[in-house]
Amino acid sequence: MTIGLYLHVPFCQSKCHYCSFYSIPNPSRGLVAKYLEGIDKEIKLFSEMLQPEEMKLETLYVGGGTPTFLNSNELKQMFKSIQANFSFEKLTEATIEINPNTCTEDELGALKDLGINRVSLGAQSFDLKRLKAMGREHTPQQVERFLEWCEKIGLDNVGIDLIYGLPNQRASDWRWELEQAISLKATHISLYGLKLEQGTKWQQMNEDGQLIVPENDVQAAMYTEAVNLLTESGYDQYEISNFALSGKQSKHNVNYWRMKPYLGIGPGASSNLKGKRWSNLCDLERYCEKVQNDIMPIEEGEVVTRDIAMWEKVALSLRLSTGLKLSEFNETFGVDFNEVYGEKTEGLIKQGLIENNSHVITLTHKGRLLGNEVFASFLL
Ligand code: SF4
Repeated sequence: MTIGLYLHVPFCQSKCHYCSFYSIPNPSRGLVAKYLEGIDKEIKLFSEMLQPEEMKLETLYVGGGTPTFLNSNELKQMFKSIQANFSFEKLTEATIEINPNTCTEDELGALKDLGINRVSLGAQSFDLKRLKAMGREHTPQQVERFLEWCEKIGLDNVGIDLIYGLPNQRASDWRWELEQAISLKATHISLYGLKLEQGTKWQQMNEDGQLIVPENDVQAAMYTEAVNLLTESGYDQYEISNFALSGKQSKHNVNYWRMKPYLGIGPGASSNLKGKRWSNLCDLERYCEKVQNDIMPIEEGEVVTRDIAMWEKVALSLRLSTGLKLSEFNETFGVDFNEVYGEKTEGLIKQGLIENNSHVITLTHKGRLLGNEVFASFLL
């Protein structure tokens, strides 16, 4: 058995105005050192609990936060902890999330030497004014320069994240953003429709009437525009919001959508292993205290019941363009899909939200726009 390993780095230079992720802005180096000791301890706790064959990595994903808030030595220390406890023999993909202003050319080279072969770059927009309004600290030029470095050192799998539905953003502005990403030859593009989350600066500004965001139908039109432009430009829409050139899909995320086992290390990280699922504490101090006392730093956990597992199988498979193979569902759960979901499926087909082609169910474009509603309707 191989697994995916996710490492959460909960630090950022500052807090973006729309962000609700668990991240600590501008922490002291002492806190970073404490965090590194914490994840080393959590990894060791797992290596004592799991069998050696369960410590074989297929994919590694270092996310955040901003992983490259850590300097080269700190990242080396993190990799040393991982390499000392997990087998890299079967590893095919090692991704790190990078913000363009937090990594130099030498640091990028050092990451490649550590085994990183895929980068997810938090570009978000190519408009400096917009970036400033979002509370981002990088410039569009830094994104371009970063991609040049990648090409120079032979890192040929670089994804770009973009946000749409930003305040005062028009359809033509959004098209321009997509054109920039395409012209930079990003091999992977992930789209995020802006959601004003509770507790963020933008949510408060919106409540106070100081921020105007596009209506839902405008956001939906932007999504459609992106699907058309990216697919015309040679990108495969392999997941609702993810587009990749041939062979450049994120294996780590595809494995997640295919419900393969994964382990999450660090505060706020989630795991799904051997029929159990849990999330770590979103509190670095408490996280470190627990692991240093040999206690798993779990905030909440649940045993995945059969009903939940069936629903997840449907919802996660439908996210992918390959859809849900009914024979696979039947084999996994020992029950006929149509017995459980036949009526619901008929209703969704009539509404034009899903299609059934040769016993493979996929979302239609309309279904992708209303994905959450479709998934909720499969809840038992
Ligand atoms: S860099 Fe990412 S994780 Fe950090 S505050 Fe901004 S959006 Fe949130």
